[in-house]
Amino acid sequence: MARLVCARCGREADRLIRGLCPSCFAEVYGVARIPGVLRGEVCRYCGSVRIAGRWVPAGSFEAAIDAVVRWQASKARPVEPLVEARLASWEALSKPDWRTRVALNLEGRTAEGVVVRARVPVVVQLKPSICPTCKTRVSGEYDTVLQLRGGDPGALERLAVEALTEAGVEGDTVDLIKSKDGVDVYFTHRGAASRLVRILKRRGLVETVGRAEEYVGLTSTGRRTRKTLIVRVRL
Ligand SMILES: [Zn+2]
Ligand SMILES: [Zn+2]
Repeated sequence: MARLVCARCGREADRLIRGLCPSCFAEVYGVARIPGVLRGEVCRYCGSVRIAGRWVPAGSFEAAIDAVVRWQASKARPVEPLVEARLASWEALSKPDWRTRVALNLEGRTAEGVVVRARVPVVVQLKPSICPTCKTRVSGEYDTVLQLRGGDPGALERLAVEALTEAGVEGDTVDLIKSKDGVDVYFTHRGAASRLVRILKRRGLVETVGRAEEYVGLTSTGRRTRKTLIVRVRL
């Protein structure tokens, strides 16, 4: 039986692909054509990720990265003469975040069944966005949004819930949404938001209060505006 020798590393191999052993082939040519940066869009309110134009639930950076990586890998064409390429697994090389370094473990196959494996470093770049569901929800019936900032979102959420109860304005609250920046509380009327701010001030937690007003249209009672209060606290 003729011995096959890899033209690159000189090792013997059962099968060669373009004159190379499978591991040299993977090093030289790779397994699949996949971009170095994989992009995705993530709803900053609910964590859903947009895949092929559809929003699918994710809820964490890991889940969003997984969805983006799988989707991109499913579209990647194998490098010739491989006839098949798939994602065997992936692992994060940096802390899962909006921008994460990831190693893809790809596995390809020739028509003769020779398996080729490659570990491909890529960057997964997620763009903060808003999904249609959250868009509808946050643009619904509210006239004031209070953005609580200046601490860990989990701690801010607990503080907001506590202060809402103490102010007795839960009934005037449309929604409370935790994001990576903090917590946004949506109120049906500004009086409720002001009461919440007073409670926080009384506790000595408020550093600054920023205000912005936005014109959102006309109603029978006049000009309709929406107020944003940016409350920076010290926890
Ligand atoms: Zn070789
Ligand atoms: Zn959403």
